[in-house]
Amino acid sequence: MDDGGAGDDTMTCGTCGRQATGEGLAEARVRWTFGTEPGRTAWVCDRCSRLHARSIEGKLDSEWW
Ligand SMILES: [Zn+2]
Repeated sequence: MDDGGAGDDTMTCGTCGRQATGEGLAEARVRWTFGTEPGRTAWVCDRCSRLHARSIEGKLDSEWW
């Protein structure tokens, strides 16, 4: 069988620490956002990316006006 993976079978949300493994992993790969920051990369789960988008919009809003 094709079981020579490099152990990349866990995704961890860099914001809330939530982890996706097993069955949740395939779904997480589709729904989670892969964020890139200088010097590091991190997954952001679907919940956090929504919250994040909201807070970013809110900040932009208050700075904008
Ligand atoms: Zn999260």
